[in-house]
Amino acid sequence: MNKQQWITQGETLFGQNKMQWKFKCPCCGHSATTEDYKKAGAPSSAVGFSCIGRWLEVHKEAFDDKDKRKIPCNYAGGGLINLNPVDIDGCKVFEFGV
Ligand SMILES: [Zn+2]
Repeated sequence: MNKQQWITQGETLFGQNKMQWKFKCPCCGHSATTEDYKKAGAPSSAVGFSCIGRWLEVHKEAFDDKDKRKIPCNYAGGGLINLNPVDIDGCKVFEFGV
């Protein structure tokens, strides 16, 4: 999909205020809004790309199947294993959350 299609999809789901857009981590399934990322102190480049858990004190290790806590992980979209499922003009990002 191209960037315009992606923006249209986001606006259809969440409205024009991108602070309210939600993104789902492909590793732990946690959904966070752009505002959540900002509050956690994450750079805008991390929104929908790396898990918000990286900027939270309490998080679990990405790919740790034994940790069943319902908390965000420290998955990084720029790491060795990239699970980001949505391709926007060649850039892989998270799918929208719910
Ligand atoms: Zn995660």
